[in-house]
Amino acid sequence: MTALHPRLVSVYDEVTQRNPGESEFHQAVREVFETLSPVVVKHPEYADAQVLQRLCEPERQIIFRVPWVDDAGRVQVNRGFRVEFSSVLGPYKGGLRFHPNVYAGTVKFLGFEQIFKNSLTGMPLGGGKGGSDFDPKGRSDGEVMRFCQSFMTELHRHIGEYTDVPAGDTGVGARELGFLFGQYKRLTNRYESGVLTGKGLTWGGSQVRTEATGFGAVYFVQSMLALSQRDLEGQRVVVSGSGNVAIHAAQKAQELGAVVVACSDSGGYVVDEAGLDIDLLKDIKNVRRGRMSDYARERGLDHISAGSVWDVHCDVAIPCATQNELGEREARALVAGGVSVVAEGANMPCTPDAVRVFRDAGVAFAPGKAANAGGVVTSSLEMQQNASRDSWTFAHTDERLRSTMTEIHDRCLSTADDYDVPGDYVAGANIAGFTRVADAMLAFGVI
Ligand code: NDP
Repeated sequence: MTALHPRLVSVYDEVTQRNPGESEFHQAVREVFETLSPVVVKHPEYADAQVLQRLCEPERQIIFRVPWVDDAGRVQVNRGFRVEFSSVLGPYKGGLRFHPNVYAGTVKFLGFEQIFKNSLTGMPLGGGKGGSDFDPKGRSDGEVMRFCQSFMTELHRHIGEYTDVPAGDTGVGARELGFLFGQYKRLTNRYESGVLTGKGLTWGGSQVRTEATGFGAVYFVQSMLALSQRDLEGQRVVVSGSGNVAIHAAQKAQELGAVVVACSDSGGYVVDEAGLDIDLLKDIKNVRRGRMSDYARERGLDHISAGSVWDVHCDVAIPCATQNELGEREARALVAGGVSVVAEGANMPCTPDAVRVFRDAGVAFAPGKAANAGGVVTSSLEMQQNASRDSWTFAHTDERLRSTMTEIHDRCLSTADDYDVPGDYVAGANIAGFTRVADAMLAFGVI
């Protein structure tokens, strides 16, 4: 572990004491704090105004009961969360995650990360996150609809175009967002497009929003490779997961000439040396809601459930599944296999030990805060289109996404240079994200 600046030690200790058992939240706070020493030295006014203490305490946390009736007529009860972390730069913005392992610590870690990610984009967005321990997997459309309607029946009081704008995340895709928006509209009697992003194209959504996080991660990788006069042509790429982010990262990487040789789900992984068949993957995952084992069977390949997808040798690795999926062992396997670039498509998929292995081996490493910001960038573009009742073409929106990802990349590196940590994307992303928020907090006084 990197030592913390003395002015940050007591703040970190307070975070762990006030949020017991929330290990992912502690990890996310520690990761940011480890990079802020040069900021504390250069700008003592932030610590004097207790900016960090204030940022680690969400502005508002909502925890609520979500009762609904399953297809057998039984009453089910889940827990819903919305953590509104910071609104100094704009309305709270961040996705909703439906997954059985969601608890307060997951939502807080994601919301905390979101503050800095959103700030780093340069757009007018605050940070928040939400979700539920509901598992959509194996549920009928009717069950998912009844759950989403019940979830929104409580959530609608807390959100709004100028207040808090949720979006999708793991387990919350087009189907869930449709049910959520429909219930919001019904409860409020308002067609308030700007209240949710990730909407369907026929009812207020933006082109490229579905593809944005995966495409954006690959645009970020392009910028990383360009520093050493390389591009994606002929690169061997591995992604993890086979959800929204993974599929679109794989699609864009292959469009740019890479060969994506493996991806996974929680049941195992598949190696497809010819390059993933993206259309088949989309059909299995998005239409049939199938598994990687189905992909393996239909392509005549092995489905591997032992080990990890990170045992597959590659030049570029884009982890797109879930937090802490890539630990020290997996990082060592990647380094032994010759990886030179790792960009996080998921939120915090690499453990601190894994990041250390990459750093020691000279592997270029981009944190999710920077590399997966394409989703929120395009959400912001969706909000702009909704506000002006306009809709842009795919090509125009994609170009806005690409150029913004390049700006984010360059902002990380120029900030890292300014603070004497050249080439450190983690420090550059954290410091650039933090200072913009901190300056606004100083301007607003103690609120
Ligand atoms: P999805 O639910 O669409 O996909 C998640 C994928 O990861 C599934 O294929 C899932 O498999 C797989 N997975 C989950 N746990 C594991 C595991 N332990 N090992 C291997 N595979 C696993 O989610 P998204 O693609 O939307 O999100 C993925 C990540 O990206 C999350 O961290 C999310 O917070 C982050 N992110 C998403 C954004 C977005 O726009 N969607 C924006 C920014 C970040 P299975 O079906 O078996 O569970």
